[in-house]
Amino acid sequence: MTNRAWHLKSRPQGMPTMDNFELKPLGDRPLAEGEVRVRNAWLSVDPYMRGRMNDVKSYVPAFEVGAPLQGGAVGKVIESRAPGLAEGDTVFHMLGWREEAVGPAEAFNKVPPMPVPNEAWLGNLGLTGGTAYFGLLRAAQAKEGDIVFVSAAAGAVGSAVVQIAKAKGMTVIGSAGGAEKCAWVKELGADAVVDYKAEPIVQGLQKAAPKGIDVYFDNVGGDHLDAALASARNNARFAICGMIDGYNGAPPAALRYIMRIIAARIMLKGFIYTDYMGEVGEFYRDMGGWLASGQVKSRETVRDGIEAAPDAFLDLFRGGNTGKMLVKL
Ligand code: NAP
Repeated sequence: MTNRAWHLKSRPQGMPTMDNFELKPLGDRPLAEGEVRVRNAWLSVDPYMRGRMNDVKSYVPAFEVGAPLQGGAVGKVIESRAPGLAEGDTVFHMLGWREEAVGPAEAFNKVPPMPVPNEAWLGNLGLTGGTAYFGLLRAAQAKEGDIVFVSAAAGAVGSAVVQIAKAKGMTVIGSAGGAEKCAWVKELGADAVVDYKAEPIVQGLQKAAPKGIDVYFDNVGGDHLDAALASARNNARFAICGMIDGYNGAPPAALRYIMRIIAARIMLKGFIYTDYMGEVGEFYRDMGGWLASGQVKSRETVRDGIEAAPDAFLDLFRGGNTGKMLVKL
């Protein structure tokens, strides 16, 4: 069995290219006491990884040039020298972008016994679903009856936001690029969807939400944030989850409606998923229930083989995914 990992070869300037990545053997070493060896089965690629490719201080350390990349992954323990984990256990962890992960047992979480496929721990029961859940219900304090706008609504986090908001009795407007994605967002229960590639988002949102919005779940930034500011009702709450429009260094779109923050008393709250780890039990219970009852549906765009990882990652910025982007090993 091969044991390769994608390494950061050089720091990207703007949109990354394949030249910034290198697939190299990791080499084998015997396990130390307390360590496990895991054969990865699923790798997650996520937009935040782009920020870690820059040499800047942030809430997670920057990737080092020449070192293996890291990210969410699910795999099976194939060797253990740790009491809590046995051969055959399925675990989720952060040593992705590689075929085999070796590390201390504390770096690996045994998947809870729930009737979901293993890849769900990277999607609706993982970072993706948790970000949607806590961002909507805690950061934005969204509640029954609210009118919610969510951008990148056909993506991993966005599609979870649409479904959680519907499960909680909210009116939901999503935005996505292209008719096919918009049709899927509608299928998930959204009351209206704006195809931002077919019409300017400011006007599109005004038409879709003639009474305005109470909550904005921002995945995009730029002109989508501006549209939300333009449509915000008094005391609207914005959960600032991500601003993918700017991750590759594009000049930020002018926020022509930013002064509405004052008159409409808008609250903007940035958040990171891990801020809410103390409440993760509640999230597992709610999301587990919704998945079991079919109220929340999962969709994945799956790329095959470790060779596909960088391109799967780059496709996040080209809209190449519907639902959660995953790499299957
Ligand atoms: P995703 O939405 O599954 O994938 C990215 C999607 O963004 C693409 O499919 C594309 O969809 C859209 N997009 C890309 N570039 C765009 C642009 N310039 N303008 C408009 N839309 C664009 O990714 P995700 O993992 O669910 O992440 C969504 C957002 O949440 C990201 O901003 C991410 O950084 C953030 N996030 C934050 C946290 C946190 O803790 N705060 C955790 C996880 C994720 P279209 O085809 O519709 O354009």
